[in-house]
Amino acid sequence: MRLDTLLVRAAERLSESGSTSPRLDAEVLLAHVLGVDRTWLYTWGDKVAPSGERARFEALVAARTEGHPVAYLIGEREFWGLPLATSSHTLIPRPDTETLVEITLRLADTAEGRLLDLGTGTGAIALAFAKERSSWQVTGIDRVAEAVALAETNAERLGMANVRFLVSDWFSALGSERFEMIAANPPYIAENDPHLRQGDVRFEPLGALVAGDDGLADLRHLSRAAWSHLVPGGHLVMEHGHDQAAAVCELLEGAGYVEIGNYRDLAGQERVT
Ligand code: GLN
Repeated sequence: MRLDTLLVRAAERLSESGSTSPRLDAEVLLAHVLGVDRTWLYTWGDKVAPSGERARFEALVAARTEGHPVAYLIGEREFWGLPLATSSHTLIPRPDTETLVEITLRLADTAEGRLLDLGTGTGAIALAFAKERSSWQVTGIDRVAEAVALAETNAERLGMANVRFLVSDWFSALGSERFEMIAANPPYIAENDPHLRQGDVRFEPLGALVAGDDGLADLRHLSRAAWSHLVPGGHLVMEHGHDQAAAVCELLEGAGYVEIGNYRDLAGQERVT
């Protein structure tokens, strides 16, 4: 069967199974199996897929129709223009979180400094920041050892020398170390939120998503705990849900922070404080 026909049929099946981006999913999976760029498929749609590749593609499409996220199926997701290895031990990096990186960079306006990324997962925030601020020292921590190993792999593949990753339950492994910037995309979904039963999140680690019955448990903890790990004049930047900006402001005010600002994501929602 020709590649373009294969894609049309796969996209139909993916659409029926409820994917919101069936054509894109099909193209990404086929490009992965063939080891080519997605754009290659537009030029060579009349080629015929070898049977081995076709079988591998069909297996991935079948897994996708069961809901498995494309990023886990191909083991990769791009974030901030960086190809990052992903695994089911970590949250899949989302475009929303690029807003957090943007704000962090805007506030990190000195030539040198130290940034801490709390709950680094794939290392996405730490690596994006390290790329843009090569003279800063970047630390990413995660409670999950598999996540730290994955983040280290990503740093090595990207050849980034100014980043280190540590296994740490929030600040536990950091002693009295202080930073100019602390960034975090902590869990912030309430445990009974129906959003957890839809789409890709069903396959992601709950520990990276859920934060108590109001979704604020970790934001509350970090608002207090980060204080003693910041230098005077340092910044704490946190991602949160679209309806949590006021609550996060209140938490930060209570912890003693000043000059608190909410920032909007690309959809115009206040998602970073
Ligand atoms: N924004 C993600 C979602 O709604 C959740 C990320 C997080 O909890 N840190 O799927």
